[in-house]
Amino acid sequence: MIIQSKEINRDIVENVDACVIGSGAGGAVVGAELAEAGFKTVILEEGGYYTPKDFNQKLIDMYPLLYRDNGGTSALGVPMVVVQTGRCIGGTTTINSGTCFRTPDKILSDWEKNHGLEGINSKYLAPFFERVEKIINVEPGARDVLGKNAGVLERGMKAMGLSGGPIPRNAKGCKGCGVCILGCPEGAKQSMDLSYIPRASQAGAKVYADCRADKIVVKNNRAGGVEGVVLNRETRKPAYKFKINAKIIVVAGGAIMTPLLLLKNRVANGNGEVGRNLRLHPCSRVAGIFKEEVESWKGILQSFYIDSYQNEGIMFEATSLPLSGLALAMPYYGLKQKELMVRYRNLADVGYLISDTSSGRVRAGLGHEPIVTYQINQADHEKSIRAAAILSEILFAAGAEKIITPIAGLPLLDSPKDIKKISEMKIKKHYVDYISFHPMGTCHMGKDPKKSVVNPDLESHEVKGLFVCDASILPTSTLVNPQLTIMAFATRLGFWLKENREKYL
Ligand SMILES: Cc1cc2nc3c(=O)[nH]c(=O)nc-3n(C[C@H](O)[C@H](O)[C@H](O)COP(=O)(O)OP(=O)(O)OC[C@H]3O[C@@H](n4cnc5c(N)ncnc54)[C@H](O)[C@@H]3O)c2cc1C
Ligand code: SF4
Repeated sequence: MIIQSKEINRDIVENVDACVIGSGAGGAVVGAELAEAGFKTVILEEGGYYTPKDFNQKLIDMYPLLYRDNGGTSALGVPMVVVQTGRCIGGTTTINSGTCFRTPDKILSDWEKNHGLEGINSKYLAPFFERVEKIINVEPGARDVLGKNAGVLERGMKAMGLSGGPIPRNAKGCKGCGVCILGCPEGAKQSMDLSYIPRASQAGAKVYADCRADKIVVKNNRAGGVEGVVLNRETRKPAYKFKINAKIIVVAGGAIMTPLLLLKNRVANGNGEVGRNLRLHPCSRVAGIFKEEVESWKGILQSFYIDSYQNEGIMFEATSLPLSGLALAMPYYGLKQKELMVRYRNLADVGYLISDTSSGRVRAGLGHEPIVTYQINQADHEKSIRAAAILSEILFAAGAEKIITPIAGLPLLDSPKDIKKISEMKIKKHYVDYISFHPMGTCHMGKDPKKSVVNPDLESHEVKGLFVCDASILPTSTLVNPQLTIMAFATRLGFWLKENREKYL
């Protein structure tokens, strides 16, 4: 049952076993696992509930409907980075690209060695990944809908002898319409709103949309419940109050809002770690201008990857942008920008993702707003410049006539010889244009209660029955897009709570 604010006409009181805050990659999965195991469960979601028929493919309408802060949440620093997250049933999975990679071994080994996650290796996690992959239908993007943007990257990959392939995705019967980040109008992408939330609901969980959790109730160092407000969908103003009495609380509001909630409530933060260790996976892009018509907007939005530089913390993914998005991302303006936009049909667009070691922080601001800060460090800056140079080389190898880099002030590259201009130019950090789709790490798991917020079973070191289960638990960058990692850990938490039920109920 998904209950929306328009159906609520009085204050709500519920007595349940488990209350999950957030319906995204972490919250929906653990909520469904708990409901299916017989836990009386409530899932709370601040955003609204929408279905594929609401997704009109227009950025101007979908940003306010589905994204937090209209897609404009910002991390202050040099450069400033826009950090996008979802705010709707399904969380960010409703507006993501559907890419599904398992956590690389290198990352899991680091977590085992340096964060006390002993035994949590790829073999141990395999059954959890398999379960998620089966439920959300993960398979490589089908060739007939990959699109020519993918074809260009594949050509460059082969010409340079690199490794990669069609991206594994959770889109059953994908039509390749390329608007995944505005909500899938075909209902193909198996985001949480179409997969785990219906499962949770069928198993008896009550899912409340438009309900923002504000207060975490703790009694004698044990989780007691969650209180908050029912928001009017149109005005976003509180209409009613709710009180959910629960012995298990799972906070899964995402890596920006989860620390904010804990900070506002002054819980689980004895060591001052909540909100620290923010990682962003800074992303940027390089576009190639080709003689052929690439029509990058036709086909799967994020379609093909190259992973040959993973050891350096760099990942390449062919990701097209809608016309208006690309115009915004261009490092030129005026006539120059117009000339390039006229060639939109001939542009191939490839994103790169930096596995960052830079660290930011989420602090509590006024009201319900976070203050997010992040400074890119020199090592990540250099990694990013190197990624732009390699990607330029790949696109030239694929036959590009000219290259548009994300570096302000750098002219178009006319030939592979020009790539050295990138290393010759003294590029300042704020000359590179970044966006972040993967905030992580702000309530990170670890064995040491002095250095982490939750233990490897995702329970607060301080409050029994209070768990965190979303991107905030990840101790470091994941090297790859993180949704599958989050879902695997959420599945594991569901199973762990089933086995340890008597400790809480
Ligand atoms: C445009 C875009 C494309 C992406 N593409 C990919 C991709 O292809 N592959 C991939 O792996 N990752 C992708 N990601 C990232 C991925 O979707 C996220 O990492 C993942 O969904 C995070 O899961 P989460 O559980 O931490 O939070 P979310 O999925 O963001 O869910 C958190 C939910 O909690 C709700 N919430 C927050 N606070 C409260 C509160 N106080 N009360 C009630 N509800 C609350 C929020 O409204 C939100 O709906 C993409 C992200 C974006 C923005
Ligand atoms: S390409 Fe179109 S059909 Fe396929 S998942 Fe994205 S939005 Fe849905």
